[in-house]
This record gives sequence, C-alpha cells and structure tokens, in this order.
Amino acid sequence: MEKSLLSDILQLEKTARELETSAPQREEWVRLAANFAHRFIDRLPEEPAYRAAPPPGGFRDLPPPEKGRDLREALDFLQEQLLSSGLNPASGGHLGYIPGGGLYTTALGDYLAAVTNAYAGISFAGPGAVRLENSLLRWMGDMLGYPQTALGNLASGGSIANLIAITTAREAQNISCGDIPRSVIYLTKQAHHSIQKALNIAGLREAQLRYLPMDEQFRMSPQALRKHILEDQKAGLRPFLLVAAAGTTDTGAVDPLDELADISQEHGLWFHLDAAYGGFFMLVDELRPLFKGIERTDSITIDPHKGLFLAYGLGAVLVKNVKAMHQAHRYKANYMQDAVKTDLALWDPAELSPELTKHFRGLRLWLSLQLNGLERFKAALKEKQLLARYFHHKIRELGFETGPEPPLSVALYRYIPHKGDANAFNRRLLKELHRDGRIFVSSTLLDGVFWLRFAVLSFRTHLQQVNTFLDMVVRAKTLVLNSWKNDISS
Ligand SMILES: *Cc1c(COP(=O)(O)O)cnc(C)c1O
Repeated sequence: MEKSLLSDILQLEKTARELETSAPQREEWVRLAANFAHRFIDRLPEEPAYRAAPPPGGFRDLPPPEKGRDLREALDFLQEQLLSSGLNPASGGHLGYIPGGGLYTTALGDYLAAVTNAYAGISFAGPGAVRLENSLLRWMGDMLGYPQTALGNLASGGSIANLIAITTAREAQNISCGDIPRSVIYLTKQAHHSIQKALNIAGLREAQLRYLPMDEQFRMSPQALRKHILEDQKAGLRPFLLVAAAGTTDTGAVDPLDELADISQEHGLWFHLDAAYGGFFMLVDELRPLFKGIERTDSITIDPHKGLFLAYGLGAVLVKNVKAMHQAHRYKANYMQDAVKTDLALWDPAELSPELTKHFRGLRLWLSLQLNGLERFKAALKEKQLLARYFHHKIRELGFETGPEPPLSVALYRYIPHKGDANAFNRRLLKELHRDGRIFVSSTLLDGVFWLRFAVLSFRTHLQQVNTFLDMVVRAKTLVLNSWKNDISS
C-alpha cells in the first residue's frame, strides 16, 4: 500500500510537472503571441472598425482537449472567432459608446502581474503591490483635489466603482432597512445605467428616486435640486444621496459641481460623482474650470480604461470618508473599527471593496504611466476634445442638426429630411454607416429624439479617422436620401 501510494504520486508527478513551462517553450509561446499581437496592431489602420457579418465559417467552439494543443491552432481560432466579426474596440475607428483603446503597456503590465501573481488584496501578503495600488489612488485623488486622507479602490470598471461608492454612501448615512422607503436619492435621466444597477444591488431599490430636470445642455438643475430637497424634507422624507456626472455618456455634459456641492453640504447629502468617462479630462489645463467644485464631492468614479486609454478592466473609485468605506466592506466584526490609520498605504483593498483575491490590476496603470509619461496623455486628451469640436463644426457645415457644443469629446448630430420622420431617417443612416463599417458610431434617444453619437476616446483616433468618417456620412446620407425620396413619394 505504502509502495503503490508512492509510485502513484511519482507517476502523476510526471504529467503534473508539465504545467511548469520549460524555458524554450516559454520563449516560443511569447514569440508566437507577440507576433500575433504585432500583426494585429500593424493591421489596425486597414481593418474596418465594425463587421456585421459572422465569421466566414460561422461561430464554433473549441473544447478543452485532453492533451494540450499547439499555440498556433489556438491563435488561428482566436483570429477567426474573436477578431473577424463585430466591433473592434482596439480600432482608432471605434467612435461608438465610450471607446476604449487598449494601450500596449496595459498588456505588458498584465503579463508581469500574471507571471508574478502578486497578491494585491492584503498588505500583509503583498505590501509592495498594495502600496503601489494605493499610491496610484492617491495620485488620482491629488488630481481630483481630494485630501491625502482620501483613498479608494482599483476595481474592474466604473460599474463596480459606482457600486462601492453607493454602498459606502448608504453606510456613511446610516441608512438601515426601515429607513429606505423614506430615503431620497437625486439624479437625472442622464445618469449611467450602472447607477440604477448599483442602487438595486445595494438594497436601495425601494428608496425614492428624484429625476431632476436639466438645462438645454443636459446638466442637472441646481434650482430644481434645492426645491425638491425642501419639498421632501417638508414631507417627512430623508434626502441622503446626490448622484451627478462629470461627462455623461450621452452628451459628455458636466453637471455644475460647485453649486451642487453647496446644496449637498447645506443639507448633509452624500455627493457621489460619476466621472467614469470624463474625469481624466482634468489633466487638460484648459478644461479644468469645467470641473470646479469637484474636490467638494464625497466620492468619485473614474475609469482609467476610458480616459487613460488602458485595455478594459480598470475603473477606480475615490472616497474621502475611508472609515465609511471600510465600514461598508469590512469582513471581520469590529476589525480596527476605531483605529484611525495614520499610514494610509496600509489600508487593504480587501477591506475597501467586495473583492478578496483579485488581479493585480494596478500594475497595468503604473507601467503605462511610467513608460509613457503624463505629457502624452495630456496631449491625447486635449486632441480628442478638439477633434470633437472640429467634428461638431464640420457636420454642421454639411447641413446636419447638432446637439450642444461638445464639452468633452462626445458630439450629437442628426439629419432632418425635408419630408418624413426624422427619427426613421437617422435610423436608416446609422444602418448604412454600420454597413460601411470603416468607422463605427452608435446612437441614443434624448426625449424621444433619435441622435447619432460621435465619441472620440481611443488614443488611436486622429484627424484622419474623423475626416474618413465625414466622407462616410456624406456618402451614407446620399444613399439614404435616394431611397427615402422614393419611399416617401410612393
Ligand atoms: C462607462 C461608464 C460607466 C460604467 O463603467 P464600466 O467601466 O463600463 O463598468 C459608468 N458611468 C459612466 C458615465 C460611463 O461612461
């Protein structure tokens, strides 16, 4: 028995040890993967941003084999199944939704994070990793005008960041189950849908939601906020949370933060700011006045996988009241409840977010900032904002109706035909633009009006892509107008 146990172990060890990749094998895999990546990047300028058709042979699976496959076979599968259909988010022609990009340095950071498998959840295990992540949060906090005592969390994206902030707000304001139906939350219809999701997940579904009116630039009205708070107080309700935006997804609107901060302060509201898309535009000196008052908020969501062009998988939340954040996410009863930590680098991400074990996602940001330097990010962000203004101006010259002058890098436009339903016309126009696919754009509805959106935020989008798109619009408009005239007159 003893003997067969040992021989079984030794027998299994042979195959189990093959999980440790040999040096020559590692070299070959890195070379093949890097070649794949280089070819992908080099071909981006010629590739369309969008392909509506499925892969030539249709979609299929590649089940895990009993014995490992050749990497070439796996890469061929990825090329055919992942990259030959749908939207290409790495393309400079991606001007839909809020574009990402995927800085190459993100991949390097992820590679090193995965190889070292550094533990970024608890500083006892990974003091270096936790310090590095907290120093990045402090850097963002500085930019946003937050005090040194503020901290936050590097989450997977803005949705989780919003969830952490809203859970923290609930905790800081001491809202328990019984209080929820009389607790009031103020926002606008332009709030990102992840706010609604977060409220539901945080158990606040039964709270009172006040959707406030907006001005003609889709910014929250402070007068309406004040009025509603007073009414709600009079009715015996409890105003507790304000959610505003710095860069709405639809139009890039930045709410009047300073005035909203006055009102929140006056009435003791928690002021959460969703700056997932717009926050990093604060790196552009000329745009900073738009964000006046941002330092007076209680929590901020800001996405490096948007405004710093990183690959998907990094959204941050900054919170001033770290104790409340800890209260909402702690996992040991009374753990350090009263201990004010003087060295903030020691706060553990695991006690400030829902996650315990997590990807060391700070490394991708740290490496991207170190290797590129801030100058490039500032130039790129400013360039994107100017490109949106350029587009806004040019599309007007082409006879299109436009939305507000873009405050950041989103512009709205639509064509009004002489006859017929404008919404239907612009739906057709969008379909035609998708059929072309060189540049990808998306659309939205504002008060029932169908608008085409133009959103620049890929670091690969420059004047050339914008001009290509303007050509595409002219061509698509002509095509749609031809069939439109026939349809209308028949
Ligand atoms: C993108 C976005 C979010 C959600 O962030 P994810 O990273 O996609 O989860 C939230 N708010 C705004 C304003 C956004 O643009």
